[in-house]
Amino acid sequence: MRKPRADVIVVGAGVSGLTTAVCLAEAGRSVRVVARKGPAETSSAAAGAMWGPYMVSDARVEPWSLESLLVFEGLADVPGTGVALVSGIEASRTPIVPPTWTARVRDFAVCAPEEMPDGFVSGWRSTIPVIDMTLYLAYLGRRLAESGVAVEEYRVRSLDDPALDAPVVVNCSGIGARQLVPDRSLVPIRGHLVVVANPGIEEFFADHEDNPAQMAYILPQGERVVLGGSAERGKTGLTVDRAVTDGILARCQAINPKLTGARVLASRVGIRPNRDRIRLEATLMGGRRLIHNYGHGGSGVSLSWGCAREVLALAGG
Ligand SMILES: Cc1cc2nc3c(=O)[nH]c(=O)nc-3n(C[C@H](O)[C@H](O)[C@H](O)COP(=O)(O)OP(=O)(O)OC[C@H]3O[C@@H](n4cnc5c(N)ncnc54)[C@H](O)[C@@H]3O)c2cc1C
Repeated sequence: MRKPRADVIVVGAGVSGLTTAVCLAEAGRSVRVVARKGPAETSSAAAGAMWGPYMVSDARVEPWSLESLLVFEGLADVPGTGVALVSGIEASRTPIVPPTWTARVRDFAVCAPEEMPDGFVSGWRSTIPVIDMTLYLAYLGRRLAESGVAVEEYRVRSLDDPALDAPVVVNCSGIGARQLVPDRSLVPIRGHLVVVANPGIEEFFADHEDNPAQMAYILPQGERVVLGGSAERGKTGLTVDRAVTDGILARCQAINPKLTGARVLASRVGIRPNRDRIRLEATLMGGRRLIHNYGHGGSGVSLSWGCAREVLALAGG
């Protein structure tokens, strides 16, 4: 940790920490990033990921996610980012009204009944960013490196750790904030995904479903398809639960029979950091400005650019 004093130290190297660090560094601030685990071992690396506000309830979510949508749409044109614009359907087994943010997504159209899988009664078609998180986190790392910033492995024991020697500290520790802050209102919601060889699926499908037992989504990413999902409140273990992944496969195969017999390549587990309200605010601690940016639930990727830019504003431009 003995390094030249930086303007800002970002704690965390998931999508929130890396995006925040990119915004700060590209605005000319000298930045250090410290993290207990590097990008490839974070919950962010386990995410699907599709753009869309989900599993968060906070009025600021829509503007932050729409700001991020514009950035991701731009990144889809940049080779090597892992971001692609994919068309597909989000549908529900019960009648639903499309959320207000659908007014801003590309190619929006309400689905005709025959367009939806059996059992689904309402839904819409759109083109949204689908993000390969392995490639995307690596891209953010390269972009940071271009500003001379590397991720330093360091476990922060408390937010007044003297090693956090900078006038501004940004806390992007995800579920780690539960101990670090400490913040007991932050609840872990574990999620599983299954990655299979792509049997020829080009469109995404997402079940607009509040019941975790029914959750299903299908995200084509080139030669692979990411299948979700699960939402197990209070669970933190990162060992793959075979019963959960079998359930994901069965639900997705029922929705799209092309997936039947698809070769399973991997399973992933991550922890969504859930909070009633995302914590994005500046406080003072021991003469330093401490900015929290955590608690993004199931939408941390979708919110990442909007939240990072707000941190930049709180950090003084
Ligand atoms: C299965 C699954 C699917 C998902 N799908 C989507 C999706 O489709 N779209 C979407 O937008 N979102 C999705 N999410 C949600 C998204 O992954 C999270 O909201 C997001 O990853 C949170 O990012 P983060 O950077 O805040 O936290 P994390 O990725 O958990 O990163 C936290 C960082 O803080 C570090 N840290 C923690 N404690 C300390 C400490 N004491 N000292 C130093 N460092 C510390 C960690 O090591 C890590 O580097 C999904 C999540 C899961 C689990």
